[in-house]
Amino acid sequence: MQRIYLDNAATTRVLDEVVEAMRPYFTDYYGNPSSLHSFARDAYKGLDQSRAIVASALNAKPEEIIFTGGGSEGDNMIIRGIASAYKKKGKHIITSAVEHHAVLHTLQAMERDGTAEVTYLPVDEYGRVTAEQVEAAIRPDTVLVTIMFANNEVGTIMPIAQIGTVCRKAGVFFHTDAVQAVGHVPVDVEKMNIDLLTLTAHKFHGPKGVGAIFVKKGVRMPSMILGGGQERNKRAGTENVAGIVGLATALRYQVEHMEENTQKMLVLRDRLLFGIPTRIADVKLNGHPTERLPNNVNYSIRFIEGESILLMLDLNGIAASSGSACTSGSLDPSHVLLAMGLNHETAHGSLRLTLSEFTTPEEIDYVLDTLPPIVERLRAMSPLYKGGEK
Ligand SMILES: *Cc1c(COP(=O)(O)O)cnc(C)c1O
Repeated sequence: MQRIYLDNAATTRVLDEVVEAMRPYFTDYYGNPSSLHSFARDAYKGLDQSRAIVASALNAKPEEIIFTGGGSEGDNMIIRGIASAYKKKGKHIITSAVEHHAVLHTLQAMERDGTAEVTYLPVDEYGRVTAEQVEAAIRPDTVLVTIMFANNEVGTIMPIAQIGTVCRKAGVFFHTDAVQAVGHVPVDVEKMNIDLLTLTAHKFHGPKGVGAIFVKKGVRMPSMILGGGQERNKRAGTENVAGIVGLATALRYQVEHMEENTQKMLVLRDRLLFGIPTRIADVKLNGHPTERLPNNVNYSIRFIEGESILLMLDLNGIAASSGSACTSGSLDPSHVLLAMGLNHETAHGSLRLTLSEFTTPEEIDYVLDTLPPIVERLRAMSPLYKGGEK
């Protein structure tokens, strides 16, 4: 049976050229970059070049890039780090209701231990906040605004440049969790007035467990992990050199091929986006119709549970997702869909299909042929469904 991977928002296939670029850092250039010999210099060179590549992809300076152990670590580091370094100014933080749990759970923990007071901005039906909402929420004691670049569940892109302008004008630091955006859509920290940013390699065809944060020059960032002085004293621990080289190689490739890959994916995404409602009744598109990642399709399929669709799709070789990967193990409906105003039942029936540059037209057609009979069978068994009545 052919297997079709449409869960690229959860993680991606590592590019062959990335594996090749990493290999010598395991076998030949394996020195500790902090040591004082030629093996160390080889490793250090890889680190140095990678930092320059990541900086240039974001329009940042190399000294503003700190390598981390992934997206969750980056979000934790930045939120706790800024709150701690600037606590004299206050402890008010502004965020949105649809952030990734790496942001939300960090903020909730800080509320519990009294180190933050948080405003959770509500979103519209498409999952967006506006710059005006952010502006209205800023107070004299606001230390940080943290709003994601693009949503991992519904693909909605936030008005990041406008939010950046508002924050810069108010003198408040602006962090964006750009994990779903970097390598997929243009990101420019200078133009968009971003002070802090999180990215992770495995969402753009790099290896898992390695990421980076951007910390604008002049912004104080205490280290959350203490030990050696690596990463300009902002993240102790021997660098994951091979992983970092993999991250940079993947990012450079993605940025160089962004335009052609986007065009390719948009054609296939739209074939799904417009094909699903013509073949299946009672579906609702989740997320913004146009301000949307080029690889994301998310539909609520009414009267059935997302989890049962996933199981049936998997039996047919199709890997998809319902809500986010982290929550699909639980029975709680997605906090993102609920924040967008969906009722519990509609939120439960969500199906996320996320494409990559490896997705083919044949795969999309197979999904369009396979999904409708699955939905029909599940609806026939569903006590909620009475032959298409709304
Ligand atoms: C995947 C993801 C993360 C977490 O990244 P990890 O590298 O898996 O820790 C954080 N934020 C968003 C928006 C994500 O999609």
